[in-house]
Amino acid sequence: MPVNKKNYKQLIEELRLSEVTLVAVSKTKPVEDILELYNLGHRDFGENYVQELVEKAGKLPNDIRWHFIGHLQTNKVKFIIPFICLIHGVDSLKLLKEIDKQARKNRRVIDCLLQVHIAQEETKFGFDENELSGLEISEFENIKIKGLMGMASFTEDMNKVRAEFRHLKTLFEKLQTTYPQLHILSTGMSHDYKIAIEEGSNMVRIGSMIFGERNYQK
Ligand SMILES: *Cc1c(COP(=O)(O)O)cnc(C)c1O
Repeated sequence: MPVNKKNYKQLIEELRLSEVTLVAVSKTKPVEDILELYNLGHRDFGENYVQELVEKAGKLPNDIRWHFIGHLQTNKVKFIIPFICLIHGVDSLKLLKEIDKQARKNRRVIDCLLQVHIAQEETKFGFDENELSGLEISEFENIKIKGLMGMASFTEDMNKVRAEFRHLKTLFEKLQTTYPQLHILSTGMSHDYKIAIEEGSNMVRIGSMIFGERNYQK
């Protein structure tokens, strides 16, 4: 399925007005689709799987800013550290330590977002509120924590989604009083990005609206 340029252009216009960064989520999509968007001037792309990301990055222009948005396993950190721009889903102290270690080896300082568990669903990864407030954010020399990332419950109930985003924004602002360097709030996907922005998001991760539905069977 081709890239939906009409949706993309409308989205870019809409986001520009509210100064929100668009991460185009290209997981499962071919490099041709990514290039099509690249040729329209887009540079921020998000991927969920390490092997897929590494393969695609090797075939695409190196001024792309790659965002890792999936669940990152510690044993795979080393594969993305040489080139990753922002890791969104940092959800444990163990992972922070490994990113810090690999970043040092690569003489890089890696930008990260802490994933916070805001949905009621059991399956979602992330720190909870208590873990978050106990975290010493500036402790890692080779990591710059830039903000928070969250995913709302997968539900038709948009009031619930809104409440979860609002809760995360509250935590974000609370944390900012101690750590004013935090400035990225990454929330919102194709179906809930408008609500996310209304509730304070300044970075949205959008896939299917731009690239079409994903087919995992292919
Ligand atoms: C797949 C994915 C997205 C994009 O989802 P769409 O519904 O296709 O916009 C955003 N964030 C994360 C963490 C994802 O895994």
